[in-house]
Amino acid sequence: MTDPGRGPAASPDRRRILLLVGSVGAGKGTQAAALSRELGLVHLASGNLFRLALRDGTPLGERARAYMERGDLVPDEITIEMFMDELARPAAARGAILDGFPRTVAQARALDATLAQRGERIERVISIEVPVEDLVARVAGRRVCPVCGTPYHVVSEPPRMPGRCDREGAELQQRDDDRPEVVRARLVKQVLPMLEVLEHYERAGIVQRVDGRQPISAVTGEILAGLTGGRDAD
Ligand code: AMP
Repeated sequence: MTDPGRGPAASPDRRRILLLVGSVGAGKGTQAAALSRELGLVHLASGNLFRLALRDGTPLGERARAYMERGDLVPDEITIEMFMDELARPAAARGAILDGFPRTVAQARALDATLAQRGERIERVISIEVPVEDLVARVAGRRVCPVCGTPYHVVSEPPRMPGRCDREGAELQQRDDDRPEVVRARLVKQVLPMLEVLEHYERAGIVQRVDGRQPISAVTGEILAGLTGGRDAD
């Protein structure tokens, strides 16, 4: 099916397109930032891109608005178009780390097909794995200062005085979204489609699973080692 003239072999300097997968609280944002720095790839997080488009009132934002306000997924064609536009920008010349997309098998298939038309494909899917109860504990420990917005964590980043912001002295708060029962409900909704996306890419043999309970730098190191060690010779 692939046109040999435009297939992967014809572009030796093909850019890297990575997909980061992980539940809320798994450390995906932190790892995306580290990988983006280390590898010079742009971090494309679907939720952030949609929120920016909405804030700026772009045509894309307007098309996505109603879905986002209902908390529904934005239709695939809009989401894919947004990613292809982002991938066409100079910032993505060396490649990109996709985050939050594809989120369903239908999106994964559609993205694979669109990339294949350009002789590209996802090189690696990195799954940051943390058991559910650890995720709930991590997220439930988050606190934020209502005055200056500084984030804390009761275990990993506690304030000097329990429950009080170091700068403002204000009483720290927990976001509604971070309450254990809300986190569990969000996880339940996320897990099945995420497993299906992983299974889809398992078939292509490109999934790297990383234990997200390790320290942040160890997780980054393992991901980078996997990328250098397992890169195809193409
Ligand atoms: P998030 O911050 O990742 O929870 O995304 C916020 C909102 O953006 C979601 O509720 C959806 O409306 C939209 N969104 C994010 N990622 C996708 C995606 N892969 N497909 C469709 N809609 C998405």
